[in-house]
Amino acid sequence: MNPQRKSDAPNLELLVSTMSLEEKIGQMTQLDLLTVAIPNTNPIVLDEAKLHEAVVVNHVGSFINNGANRALSLDEWDYVNKTIQEKIKQHTPHKIPLLYGIDSIHGATFVRGATLFPHNIGLAASRNIELVRRTAEISAKETRAAGLRWNFAPVVDVGRNPLWARFPETFGEDTHMASIMGVAAIEGFQGNDVGSCDTVAACMKHFLGYSFPLNGKDRSPAWIPENMLREYFLPPFRAAVQAGVKTVMVNSAEINGIPVHANRFLLTDLLRGELGFEGVVVSDWEDVIRIHTWHRRATTSAEAVRMSIEAGLDMSMVPFDFSFCTHLRQLVLDKRISIERVEESVLRILRLKRDVGLFENTSPEPGARANLGRPEYKAAALAAAEESLVLLKNGDGFLPLQKTAKILVVGPASNSISTLHGCWSFTWQGKDESQYPSGSKSIVDCIRDKIGVENVIHHMGCPFEGALETQAIDAISADAARCDAIVLCMGEDAYAETPGDINDLALPQCQMEFARRLIATGRPVVIVLVQGRCRVIRELVPSAKAILLAFWPGSGGSQAIANVLFGDVNPSGKLPCTYPRYSNHLITYDRKTTSRLNEDTPLTGYLPEEYAPQFEFGHGLSYTIFRSSNLRLHAKIFKADGEINLEVDVTNTGKRAGLETIEVYSRQLYASITPPQKRLRAFKKILLQPGKTKTVGFNLPVSSLAIVDEYNNTVVEPGEFEILVGEEKTALTVKE
Ligand code: BGC
Repeated sequence: MNPQRKSDAPNLELLVSTMSLEEKIGQMTQLDLLTVAIPNTNPIVLDEAKLHEAVVVNHVGSFINNGANRALSLDEWDYVNKTIQEKIKQHTPHKIPLLYGIDSIHGATFVRGATLFPHNIGLAASRNIELVRRTAEISAKETRAAGLRWNFAPVVDVGRNPLWARFPETFGEDTHMASIMGVAAIEGFQGNDVGSCDTVAACMKHFLGYSFPLNGKDRSPAWIPENMLREYFLPPFRAAVQAGVKTVMVNSAEINGIPVHANRFLLTDLLRGELGFEGVVVSDWEDVIRIHTWHRRATTSAEAVRMSIEAGLDMSMVPFDFSFCTHLRQLVLDKRISIERVEESVLRILRLKRDVGLFENTSPEPGARANLGRPEYKAAALAAAEESLVLLKNGDGFLPLQKTAKILVVGPASNSISTLHGCWSFTWQGKDESQYPSGSKSIVDCIRDKIGVENVIHHMGCPFEGALETQAIDAISADAARCDAIVLCMGEDAYAETPGDINDLALPQCQMEFARRLIATGRPVVIVLVQGRCRVIRELVPSAKAILLAFWPGSGGSQAIANVLFGDVNPSGKLPCTYPRYSNHLITYDRKTTSRLNEDTPLTGYLPEEYAPQFEFGHGLSYTIFRSSNLRLHAKIFKADGEINLEVDVTNTGKRAGLETIEVYSRQLYASITPPQKRLRAFKKILLQPGKTKTVGFNLPVSSLAIVDEYNNTVVEPGEFEILVGEEKTALTVKE
């Protein structure tokens, strides 16, 4: 924190003591900009009367979104910002600047001209922590360039239900991965000084247990016992708090029958008491009122407001009316909520405004504006996309393709920009192709660039969903006969949140049928999967020659895919989740011994043959071959407060340089809570030249082997453990 800034800011305690009740409640209110914007204007125009009602009459202290469902230009953002802050300066007693919150989820979503990176699921596949930090730094710069100082990211929910429509926003199914990557993102967003002109306040979300809905549908109930919450879902939030995250957003759904927005244990005892979080707790969209209207926990909307404030909420994302203000005012007047409780929240919000520098200035400095669209961001987006690609299969070393080959490029993802970007891409759903920059290139464009227009035949041939037009198939098959390979690009078009709910994890029928027909031509088929979730493709795997998984790789995605297909880049991504073989065999890598398909088949040690996902967590091929050997520990017996120093030799036995991630897993042989088969404890990514060997070392605190026991205590239980790296394994003992 810049000391200069501290002295510039007013004495916040004094300020709170001079504010009226209405002003205080206004600070706790967040509205969508649509409430004060004239709909469908371009450039955007605010409605002065409505703005007056919001910020002068009701003292609203925060806005979100942009009301236009499109990305605004810097000039438009300037206009919005200046108009609002001017109104506040001229017509309110304390002139408290407004804090704007925005979803810059994988880049500055709502800023025209911003760079969009792979979604978190792809960043996790890259296993590159520095890359996560760098993409977050750029997102912060491009967000701040528009004068926006609060980013509703990162999502640190652990993606343990692959059906969930928000799975692509997560860092995958592993708790350690979400913790490490989440912290890197927060450090990238907030930098060393969250008030500088190129950083933004981060928001860890969505606290807690959002990502494990029982039926896989967004915002639907979860049942998660406390020890499971603490073992798998809490650690990334704890790590984020330790990293100094400024704000948190609450889970919209219920867990264990209690809407999280009304859960005092989670929002106060656990979050503030135990984790020591001191920042701002903001609700998710309309979720205070939904304690009444959806969850039926509160009998009235006023009661819903009371419950959320008692639970520990600081700010309500209302987002379309002043009901929160009216109810909270009445609750205070009726002494059902104390004024001290309100002031506590107001102080936290004012501190946040001070920390992001709003009391010093409210418009983006010239230095901030210059941070939009710098040429080096494009290179960063390409590098991130390249490292996020996971080569799932490469039969007979079929890839890379020859640049002299004639290629048939087909499939719904072959010429779509929106599928490369996914959700939160210039619009919430990301589907509106007209919003993408005019020079955006699809996969087929980049393949043409790579090998020449004359060597590419292209047909979409099939939609993402719906009916397959079988007449077109004959023509496509005839073209296939003239080509050396078919690149079949399929998967999922963009979706965000609830509209992305599905009833079946299998890839839609039309795409499966299309793929079958192409495989039937006998020409080699390379499948490129562009998708937010791992859609089941079991039947195609044996007959596809190669399979490249791109998730939603962002603006650099199409170029990255072409670079990997034609061998200019050696792929290095590893699955951050288990790729399911069947829609109804959803199982994470850190499964229990008994998590198998068939109870009647005997267990075959620690890796029962019944455990057969399509591709395992951590799977990902390269164009070279890496071998790990000689895993060694400096000792074999440890105390709970000790440190395990381990080393392993990694050799590149192939013919080209490559990036390889070394993953360290632990396995406890017996424990009071049945032990998982293995847990990821550490990873490192290295570059290795052909023929070279590197020794890679890790210092693992013994405390990282802890489990959460049946009494919800985090403990290292003495006993036998194994450390696993690749095919290597070694034993150790933890003594009392
Ligand atoms: C989402 C949040 C998002 C918020 C504001 C909600 O629907 O669940 O993740 O930050 O909208 O746009």
